[in-house]
Amino acid sequence: MLSEPPVELVELSVVVPCKNEADNLEHLFERLRQTLDPLGIPYEIICVNDGSQDNTLEKLIAFHRRDPRIKVVNLSRCYGKEIALTAGLDHASGNAVVPIDADLQDPPELIPEMLQQWRQGYQVVYAVRRSRRGESWLKRFTANGFYWLIDQLSQVRIPRNTGDFRLLDRQVVEAVKQLRERTRFMKGIFAWVGYRQTAIFYDRAPRFRGKTQWNYWRLWNLAIEGITSFSSWPLRVWSYIGLAISVPAFLYGLFLIIRTLLFGSDVPGYASLAVMILFLGGIQLISLGVIGEYLGRVFEEVKGRPLYLVDGTFGFETPRPSPALDSVPTQKLG
Ligand code: UDP
Ligand code: MG
Repeated sequence: MLSEPPVELVELSVVVPCKNEADNLEHLFERLRQTLDPLGIPYEIICVNDGSQDNTLEKLIAFHRRDPRIKVVNLSRCYGKEIALTAGLDHASGNAVVPIDADLQDPPELIPEMLQQWRQGYQVVYAVRRSRRGESWLKRFTANGFYWLIDQLSQVRIPRNTGDFRLLDRQVVEAVKQLRERTRFMKGIFAWVGYRQTAIFYDRAPRFRGKTQWNYWRLWNLAIEGITSFSSWPLRVWSYIGLAISVPAFLYGLFLIIRTLLFGSDVPGYASLAVMILFLGGIQLISLGVIGEYLGRVFEEVKGRPLYLVDGTFGFETPRPSPALDSVPTQKLG
């Protein structure tokens, strides 16, 4: 009798973006195995090689040969962490997906706790850093400043001190996969899709081996990416600056005209020139801002995000109740 080999459904996918992480892999897989094996669930570890220049790829393939649960996606070049992570999510098949850094700054030991919260009915369980050991005060200061700014500017609330380390329900992964914008700020995307979210807390460890790929320049660029893809405020602010310049300039101009009519002028031409320049400068900024308003709308459309995401429906012909809600114990709902 011919029968298909049983396809084991994967419960948990761990997604690891790796760039030049050869020295960390051994320890990473060891710790992942120690944490995940006792859980007794089928899992896979998806490693995305993001154009590493060391022997990360060779090592990953060797690990895969020894343990087929370790799977490798090799990108054609370095696309950056956000895209590497997206590629990993695209390839993950688990009911729950956990992106994690290869450098062990995110302790894999947290995963069981995440799974527990997930089974309680939460669709996103994100890990919040209580402390940032091994990071300079400058990094902490700039990170705080960034979170403050994006809080002010963006429509969606992006949780503070939260990296990409989190558990995503399959439904959330499918939602994230619908957001195909090119400039990807994953933290923002995770926040944008919504769903029932909860936090767990942990202490962030220093990097295990190797150097961080992020210098301040790359962090700055990531911050700009985050702010510009989740707010069009930088485009629109010019209208307000323009107004703030041209209105006083106009009033001052009026004042000068009246004063000259009444008392004559002391330095002919100077004041009127200054007022004209300021006034016109302001008008130009206002029109830049108006263009910004439209450009912002074009930008929103071009991103092509879905208008909304549905968590579950009740009372339709083919009901698709939210699987998470389905499994919520009744006392949790009451
Ligand atoms: N990473 C990547 N591509 C990059 C930069 C980083 O895939 O261009 C991976 C890296 O291998 C690690 C994770 O992203 O697994 C986090 O990187 P890193 O530890 O350098 O960042 P930090 O912890 O300083 O934020
Ligand atoms: Mg790191």
